[in-house]
Amino acid sequence: MADNIYVTKSFLPPIKEYEEYLKQIFDNCILTNQGKLLMQLEKKITSFLNVENFQYVTNGTLALQLALDSLNIKNGEIITTPFTYVATTTSILWERCEPVFVDIEPDNFTLDPAKIEKAITPRTKAILPVHVFGYACDVETIQKIADKHELKVIYDGAHAFAARYKGRSLLDFGDITTCSFHATKLFHTVEGGGCVVKNDIVNYRLNLAKCFGHDNDAYFQIGINAKQSEFHAAMGLANFGHLEEILEKRRIVSETYDSLLNDAVGRPKKQNGLEYNYAYYPVVFKSEEELLSVFEALNAEGIFPRRYFYPSLNKLSYVKGDFSCPISEDIASRIACLPLYPDLALHDVERICLIIRNVIGKRAFNYSVSLKSV
Ligand SMILES: *Cc1c(COP(=O)(O)O)cnc(C)c1O
Repeated sequence: MADNIYVTKSFLPPIKEYEEYLKQIFDNCILTNQGKLLMQLEKKITSFLNVENFQYVTNGTLALQLALDSLNIKNGEIITTPFTYVATTTSILWERCEPVFVDIEPDNFTLDPAKIEKAITPRTKAILPVHVFGYACDVETIQKIADKHELKVIYDGAHAFAARYKGRSLLDFGDITTCSFHATKLFHTVEGGGCVVKNDIVNYRLNLAKCFGHDNDAYFQIGINAKQSEFHAAMGLANFGHLEEILEKRRIVSETYDSLLNDAVGRPKKQNGLEYNYAYYPVVFKSEEELLSVFEALNAEGIFPRRYFYPSLNKLSYVKGDFSCPISEDIASRIACLPLYPDLALHDVERICLIIRNVIGKRAFNYSVSLKSV
């Protein structure tokens, strides 16, 4: 019987490469507190992204919380998307702010800028969109709205590492963009995250905040511990050397899905100017029933895709307020991510596509057209 196939499988470098970095840690006996390997990784990522300020932190959730905190966003409303991982929303709540959900674009599932202005009130402090699945938000329009209303923009770029938009890293927009290097993400450091920060003063504050708010004996502000360890940085350095290979293999798997599924399922549209990173392979079915029948058939063969993202987060029990997000709710009910990772065998991709087509038939279907009736 073949091994089970899950939605993702973490990339691991050859163990020798990791051991070489571990040896440096054992030689130096410095395990954390902005050590040598961490500084080396930060520098590599900063130059890879071609940004002014990049800070490596413990995870993508603390990155969001540090971003809100260092931009001084407190007790206000934050306009955000309901179609994302729950950490985007809980970070807002954790910082004692209120998420205000605005619906998404049917084409690529990112926050719909046409619906932002109606949601702005005197209490609005910021906009927090997500480059979901690595697709780019409409960064130009969002920035215009933010400038007009003097709002901060924080992008959750947890899925956007290595994606580029109009020649720039997709993480290089807004006041701060956060990212995640969790083991399930396309580039990972086991656990980890980061912040790309535009303003130098905000960057200084964030740097202090992640290390308890003090610099030696000078105590400046309240801080938290969001420093990352040398062992995580070691994994990052080892994986960084394989980034091109990871992206290339993910591209090949994704394009194999494209050719075999051939419009039988709905797929997001890639924006002009986006160099995609193949972070996920989301597919939209005709209905939730169809999704569940496909899951049943795949699960029977030991294949486990995931319902990403479900439910639409405006429906969370602990969120106050009643937000109408019909597009997000509709998409969330019938979208799934298919298995995608660098060493997923192409014959397994074929097997997955065959099973899907057996359930749904050989039709072509355009999900956004069927959406117009929502
Ligand atoms: C993974 C993820 C996060 C959280 O990142 P962690 O590193 O796991 O804390 C935040 N937002 C989105 C959209 C994510 O997918």
